[in-house]
Amino acid sequence: MKKIPLHWSILLGMTLGVLVGVIFTTFESGPQMISHWVKPFGTIFINALKLIAMPLILGSLIKGVSDLKDISRLSRMGGRTIGIYIMTTVVAVIIGLIMVNTIKPGKSISEETRQELVIAYQSDAEEKQAVAQKQKDAGPLQALVDLVPDNIFKATTENGNMLQVIFFALFFGIGLILIPAEKSKPVKDFFDAFNEVILKLIDLIMLVAPYGVFALLAALVVESPSLELFSALGMYALTLVIGLFLMGLFYLLMVRIFVKFNPKKFIEGIAPAQLLAFSSSSSAATLPVTMDRVEEYLGVDEEVASFVLPIGATINMDGTSLYQAVAAVFIAQAFGMDLSVGTQLGIIMTATLASIGAAAVPGAGMVMLVIVLGQAGIPEAGLALIFAIDRPLDMCRTVVNITGDASVSMLVAKSVDKLSEYPKKKWS
Ligand code: ASP
Repeated sequence: MKKIPLHWSILLGMTLGVLVGVIFTTFESGPQMISHWVKPFGTIFINALKLIAMPLILGSLIKGVSDLKDISRLSRMGGRTIGIYIMTTVVAVIIGLIMVNTIKPGKSISEETRQELVIAYQSDAEEKQAVAQKQKDAGPLQALVDLVPDNIFKATTENGNMLQVIFFALFFGIGLILIPAEKSKPVKDFFDAFNEVILKLIDLIMLVAPYGVFALLAALVVESPSLELFSALGMYALTLVIGLFLMGLFYLLMVRIFVKFNPKKFIEGIAPAQLLAFSSSSSAATLPVTMDRVEEYLGVDEEVASFVLPIGATINMDGTSLYQAVAAVFIAQAFGMDLSVGTQLGIIMTATLASIGAAAVPGAGMVMLVIVLGQAGIPEAGLALIFAIDRPLDMCRTVVNITGDASVSMLVAKSVDKLSEYPKKKWS
């Protein structure tokens, strides 16, 4: 029997999950049954992916860097990666601002709905504000201080410390390049083998991906708020989704023009990672799969992928920055405020920085949105307005986040001549 391609079986799992979720919301004990008997399998699946994120970064980055012949290649790659990441993020914010200023979704929300939403989600919004306050209290160089761990074992115990682990892996890799080859060989061989094992684990976990996403989506459906609320925020959601779609087209164009790679093959190659990003709302949990697909199906050399993708998962969130721009202006519009061009230019700056600072986990973009609102003088209480619909939109922006990382990794690989013409695996 012919094997169904992975993205189709994941899509099938997602569809069945939604259907089962909808069916189970129709009777009283249904949602609880899903929460008790189905959701845990989704959680186990996501945990398994997160479990290998840290070892994957450590192993593949150390191996990737130590394979470089000299350090100048690393700095060249680093400069390009950061430069292109910032460029795509700014493009995303600008697309968001153009969309929200053209469609003006905030004007279509009635005073009544606005008040209802503010009352219903006030306490949830306050929680996010409290988390954001901690970030605001830190000094301007705190992010730099946070980059350098004081204990590597402690750093690896927390998935949120990904940048610290990346720092250590780079540092360690540089050390390996600088010592004589006969001394570094056993260490390199060890990480080589370690890496192979981790990649095999990803393959094993992906075998159950269709079941994992089934459980995740069924649980999401039974836990989601009523459809009425969704429809009140329909225009806002539509604006954002159109913006995210345009951003997706921008990547395809980038890959087509600068890498001369067929956009259709790009989508086919990256689709399973996109579907997983959609189901999990977490770029960090998706990272192992993004790396696997980019190397095996898009032809990016491991040396580049292991460097560009983990950094991208943590700092390059184009979907998130686009969302922050749209959400900030939407809230301003709903509160009857007119934002000047100057304020909107300020949003480009803060949304870019806020998306860099956002963690690669569900809902992180909303915490950082508080900072964007604060800078632009928009009432932070407005967060309550968009709360109800945040999760589905988080799912969509996470897809864009990882697609951006994947396309930039191709660009960087091409620029340092590390893109193979013939990817290891055939498209399936
Ligand atoms: N969930 C997003 C991610 O992990 C971050 C966010 O926008 O909330 O990429």
